[in-house]
Amino acid sequence: MYGAMLKAENFSRPAEQGVYGDEGVAYDGPIQTVVNRYIPEQQLAFIPTLVNLGLQENMESLNGDPLGAGRQPSNLRSSDYSRSYATQYLQLAGSNVEVVTEATVATVVFENEKNSSGELVASGVTLADGTVVKARKEVVLSAGSLKSPQILESSGIGNSSILSGAGIQTLLDLPGVGQNLQDHVKIQTVYQLKPNISSFDRVRYDAAYAAQQLDLWHQNETSAYDYTGSTIAFLTWSQVPGANTSFVPASSQNRSVSAIDAAKLGFLDESTNAPALELLFSDGYFGAASYPAANSSLYGANFFTLIAAVQHLFSTGSVHINASAPYPATADPIIDPRYLEHPYDAAALREAAKVLRVVANAPPLSDLWVAEYEPGNEVQTDDEWEAYARKAGSTLFHPTGTCAMMERAIGGVVDGKLKVHGAANLRVVDASIIPVQISAHIQTAVYGIAERAARLIAAS
Ligand SMILES: Cc1cc2nc3c(=O)[nH]c(=O)nc-3n(C[C@H](O)[C@H](O)[C@H](O)COP(=O)(O)OP(=O)(O)OC[C@H]3O[C@@H](n4cnc5c(N)ncnc54)[C@H](O)[C@@H]3O)c2cc1C
Repeated sequence: MYGAMLKAENFSRPAEQGVYGDEGVAYDGPIQTVVNRYIPEQQLAFIPTLVNLGLQENMESLNGDPLGAGRQPSNLRSSDYSRSYATQYLQLAGSNVEVVTEATVATVVFENEKNSSGELVASGVTLADGTVVKARKEVVLSAGSLKSPQILESSGIGNSSILSGAGIQTLLDLPGVGQNLQDHVKIQTVYQLKPNISSFDRVRYDAAYAAQQLDLWHQNETSAYDYTGSTIAFLTWSQVPGANTSFVPASSQNRSVSAIDAAKLGFLDESTNAPALELLFSDGYFGAASYPAANSSLYGANFFTLIAAVQHLFSTGSVHINASAPYPATADPIIDPRYLEHPYDAAALREAAKVLRVVANAPPLSDLWVAEYEPGNEVQTDDEWEAYARKAGSTLFHPTGTCAMMERAIGGVVDGKLKVHGAANLRVVDASIIPVQISAHIQTAVYGIAERAARLIAAS
């Protein structure tokens, strides 16, 4: 995977010295990557604060060992600071690629007869408007963790009791479809900056400034609109300053758990160096409520937000078709994430929230703010922190696992070649195949999966 992930990337070495090292970046791929040129002054205090709290600075966090604090590159075009994303691959495509936009796949269609191995044979897809698109060789689903399972279920592949409940004939009983939903759950605290420090919030309340910054961005000059966050730390629990880690299960604990949970317990074994927690600095107000209203006394104040995301959670959710409206695949599926159901997850998010206050109160960050805006000083006890985490927590939008690459017997949906178990020529290629959540933002891994899939498909 590491080589496949590098294959996607075209890294622009920053003019500024000492912000990223040499390892973990590549220069020949289509997705442009930069270390952001716009870092607000207050954000520059984040890494020194974490170093003061005992963390290492890591200038090569993309080389497979992410532990420590550093600047994370962003997928931006160096030429104009606009986003660089999957469409960059179209420039490499041959003339035999046709892209149809505004088209929604409703179902995969199959030959009437199975092949001699008893496998389904896909013959194409049906679009929501009834158009049938034929496949000469194979069908590749890449609708993401929340939609690929829905297309499979709408097509008759999934848990037979869920399908029959929705009035869908089961063509392939595959109970893992739509199960095993995982994400990175996060919590944040928000700090009001000293009056002489402005933040990204200024674009909310100062229209003239916002227009000026937008103008700078259009001229490709350094601008607030360049901002992508991009200062991040990854930690094991023992590296978390001030954390009570008694809630962390031992990696050797209860080996009779599922393969997925066993993998997660393995990640919590500190000798693997797998991060358990991520800390992010986000300039401006990024809390759970909203920026102060225009008629309030704090309108015009500037904030920064500290975010903590738990990397490996034991609660797993599901996403399935809505039995009362299973067709077409444009209908919303039923998402049941079951966040914080497992006691470890709730305790981990509580401790994650507490550590943010520890970080905010350490120098040099502590010199920059006047008040904790969220949750505020009324939150002190563990029970209060947990209640806050449950109320104000959300996710980093990294859903994975719902068409997991695992053996069929343990709930897998696709095999090691990304082919749906029991179907001869149907693959899933997206974040849904990741069986166990990774300790990273997942997008580069998705590019790596796509690069690997391209080679698997070409080889067959
Ligand atoms: C707000 C937000 C911020 C994020 N920030 C980051 C970040 O900073 N770093 C990071 O690493 N990751 C980030 N992510 C996660 C990252 O975007 C996803 O992990 C990644 O896009 C997943 O890729 P995918 O191909 O699996 O699915 P997607 O990117 O969701 O692609 C699926 C595609 O299928 C299409 N589709 C769905 N159903 C159908 C259908 N029935 N017919 C036809 N087309 C269909 C969708 O329109 C979509 O274009 C973020 C996600 C969100 C939502």
